[in-house]
Amino acid sequence: MEVINNLPDDHEDARDIPPVGVPAKWDYEADIVCIGGGGAGLCAATKALENGATVIILEKQPETGGHSQHAGAAATFFTKAAKRKGLKSNRAAAFKHAYAVQSNATIDPRLLATLIDRAHEIYDWSETQSWGKRWDAFTLGFLPDQGVARMIVKGALKKGPFTSGTELTAQMYPWLQWLEKHVTEKGAKIFINTKALALVKEGERIVGVKAESLNGKILYAKATRAVILAGASFTNNREMLKKYCPDAYKKAFGTFLPPTDTGEVARMAFGAGADIAGINSWAAFAGGIPFFDTSYTGKSEPGPWFQYLRQGWLQLARGGGWLEINTACEEYIPDTARLDYEMHPKASATQPRSTAYVIFDANYPKTVWETLPPPMLDDRPMTLDDPDFPWFDKFKDFAPKNWLDSVKKAIEYGGIKYADTVQGLAKELGLDALKLTAAVKAWNAKSAAGKPDEFGRLPQNMKPIIKAPFYGIKTGAIIAGVYCGPRVNHQFQVLDKEQNPIPGLYAAGLTAGGTSGEGVVAASPLSSVGLAFSTGWIAGANATTDSPSYIPSGMEIEPAIRIQRLANKLNKHFPKFGAFLLKTGYTLIQLIKK
Ligand SMILES: Cc1cc2nc3c(=O)[nH]c(=O)nc-3n(C[C@H](O)[C@H](O)[C@H](O)COP(=O)(O)OP(=O)(O)OC[C@H]3O[C@@H](n4cnc5c(N)ncnc54)[C@H](O)[C@@H]3O)c2cc1C
Repeated sequence: MEVINNLPDDHEDARDIPPVGVPAKWDYEADIVCIGGGGAGLCAATKALENGATVIILEKQPETGGHSQHAGAAATFFTKAAKRKGLKSNRAAAFKHAYAVQSNATIDPRLLATLIDRAHEIYDWSETQSWGKRWDAFTLGFLPDQGVARMIVKGALKKGPFTSGTELTAQMYPWLQWLEKHVTEKGAKIFINTKALALVKEGERIVGVKAESLNGKILYAKATRAVILAGASFTNNREMLKKYCPDAYKKAFGTFLPPTDTGEVARMAFGAGADIAGINSWAAFAGGIPFFDTSYTGKSEPGPWFQYLRQGWLQLARGGGWLEINTACEEYIPDTARLDYEMHPKASATQPRSTAYVIFDANYPKTVWETLPPPMLDDRPMTLDDPDFPWFDKFKDFAPKNWLDSVKKAIEYGGIKYADTVQGLAKELGLDALKLTAAVKAWNAKSAAGKPDEFGRLPQNMKPIIKAPFYGIKTGAIIAGVYCGPRVNHQFQVLDKEQNPIPGLYAAGLTAGGTSGEGVVAASPLSSVGLAFSTGWIAGANATTDSPSYIPSGMEIEPAIRIQRLANKLNKHFPKFGAFLLKTGYTLIQLIKK
């Protein structure tokens, strides 16, 4: 797992990167230069090529695909695949939910409307290509009837109980592979192992990119129409987290986005004068282990910040059948929240020190498979017996294929503790021995009773803690993405501090700031990877069209904009009232209309 330490020198730098001047000679030229060849970059390139533009993609890794290739499912609205499945679509309901509930009335209403209306384009288009009808759609139980469909690659998700973590891992890999092949065939030039260093500015306009290849050669790529920033976010840059997402910096125990997620692309936009959006907006899953906290691990050096989602240790920390308690050794989490991948980390984040503990016994290699129904995205570790996904070995650097090896590693790092007695385990975890003993006793009694407990836990989700050694993990939120970066408008043009588009500059995917709203702990309504595909496509479309024809309208855009404007004005003089108005104003309008 060398990859853990494979971070570039600038991965902890939060300073803006100023643009450079025009070079004496350009090395390459295209209409569009995309920084990043992940989901957003490849989809931006695809649409730009459709519009007849020429495209260069600069990708710092030895391959395209980015984080996007690891993803399992993409959220979107109103695709043909969803229609085939008979799923309902309702723009107004989708807007209402995503605006008022998910974004807490803070997302740019026009941007949201654009996501709702245009997210489907990339998927529907792909079905007319050799990719064919390989998408399938299903709704998410915990989202109200708002027309959202989770898209997965057809046939990838097995029916019935999940058996292992691989079933939602890297389902997007074949799609990303197809995109790379498609854009190459259409004439895009992809430069791998080529890291963008700075934007090139001429007058007010961004006209290209300065980059560096693996052998240290500097190259300049000219963009005659636009540069599209698609370099994901900054979850592995803790200085940037501290500056722009302090909530995550304080509460999260790590990130599951790979170590390439270091934020220099957002820094380039800020250096070019971009405004910022989405401060403190992030999404998390449960199951992070504070390897970074040496007072917990007892090690002299911090352990890994990056923890791959399907890492056996992480799945163990999210264990569906374990006793989960807070620092006072009290249970606190209803089964409904534990099963929900967004509510689970939020529930532990509200506990003292944003911390939870899971306690289990030596039977874990067997009992980890027995909890049913498996929570969404909280299924099972990977094993050697996993179904044979042809691409699976590709990710072996991120997590050993045998999940028990990963657990051993977590014990070595000091993240998983164990002892021969419950009292001894309490000492290891820094918990009160009497309280932990009482909690374990009560848990075992509930487990033996064979009926749902006061938190709605099903009997099969309460594994008894009886066989030594006893295990415990201090656990909490692990960052799934930050939605903070250069502010974009609904055309995905990057805006300056006066809210004017910076000529020649677009952003998409996780690089684009504000796509889930301001200061919210919630994913974008399109999820992360869905956001990458759809916003890449939209940015690619707008950057290669002289007068974009789509104008967001209907839904509840206008009232939402009026309230945001008023709240912003009030915020200057009466910050608390402004925030109150933002939260309640939209709801009040809904009530009055009724
Ligand atoms: C294991 C795992 C599972 C996930 N599961 C899901 C899921 O089921 N659903 C979901 O919605 N999301 C999921 N995600 C998150 C999601 O995949 C990402 O947030 C999303 O794909 C980001 O897309 P992007 O295009 O913005 O970035 P990426 O796809 O990461 O693309 C960015 C690219 O830019 C390159 N780059 C960065 N800086 C530079 C530079 N300076 N110069 C050149 N290139 C640069 C990077 O190398 C990368 O290839 C998962 C992530 C992981 C790791």
